[in-house]
Amino acid sequence: MRAIVAHAAKDLRIETVTGAELGPTDIRVRIGVGGICGSDLHYYNHGGFGLVRLQEPMILGHEIAGVVEAVGSAARRVKPGDRVAVNPSRPCGKCRYCLEGLANQCLDMRFYGSAMRFPHVQGAFRETLVCEESQAHIVADDVTLAEAAMAEPLAVCLHAARRAGSLLGKRALVAGSGPIGALAVVAARRAGAAEIVVTDVADGALRFARAAGADRTINVAADPDALAAYGADKGAFDAMFEASGSEAALRSGLDVVRPRGVIVQIGLGGEIKMPMNALVGKELELRGTFRFHQEFTLAVELLGKRLVDVKPLISATLPFTQAIEAFELAGDRTRSMKVQLAF
Ligand code: ZN
Repeated sequence: MRAIVAHAAKDLRIETVTGAELGPTDIRVRIGVGGICGSDLHYYNHGGFGLVRLQEPMILGHEIAGVVEAVGSAARRVKPGDRVAVNPSRPCGKCRYCLEGLANQCLDMRFYGSAMRFPHVQGAFRETLVCEESQAHIVADDVTLAEAAMAEPLAVCLHAARRAGSLLGKRALVAGSGPIGALAVVAARRAGAAEIVVTDVADGALRFARAAGADRTINVAADPDALAAYGADKGAFDAMFEASGSEAALRSGLDVVRPRGVIVQIGLGGEIKMPMNALVGKELELRGTFRFHQEFTLAVELLGKRLVDVKPLISATLPFTQAIEAFELAGDRTRSMKVQLAF
């Protein structure tokens, strides 16, 4: 079968690879759609991020959906022909964090298309994928595979919303209108946020935030005072989702989040300087959020019940054989939100 393999920065190749054997509890999925994520783009553009670097060729991809082609002898729940979203997260199930129900903190995680460990965990941008039956979530009949492939980034944002605590009736700020920022709008709304304001430095990106349901968008490059106005009386927002990884965005959040408000950091910003006096004086809470666990099931359920709409965020779909073109397009924030590959 063919797969999309990253060898180094700007060295992406379509290669023939061998599929894994089908074990008793495994299934084989013919991949239909794969979404390009920010981390895939980091591998493509820079060969990795932070200390996580490509040390050997790695198949990219972890936002995937497809059709079950074959099942192992002990598979019980899934059958050939089922349309499934595949959870790319494979915690060990045995370590102390897995046993505590914190599987996203697993000590022996194998997450598709990740160079965090060596040998790297190969990804899912491939024509067929053998995975555990437990990773496959059957999607409702009228959910497209393109929508199903959005379950993974949606799960990231549902987890982020959970990290924020109750959002019912609250005012939320989302900094950064990439796919994660836009899906944070969807998740925060679903969680009951009454007002959601989104900031970015690109008008093209903010258009998608409005499509995702934002009440107001602010281009902080063109109109910095519009956000600063929310800083009156020590701040207007109960919660902030920092989805840009930008130091400036986090710092301006400290001014507009109200005392005892919560800042959920989703973006990976490397090393950031921040004034601790603002955090201390306003008794703010800065919380990290990393991937997801049960939220993948919830994402598939919300998509199936039409309680969320991710379709406006899918900005383009290209054949996987045009992977380089697709990755270049995905990296162009003036034109793109979520770019998907068709297999
Ligand atoms: Zn574990």
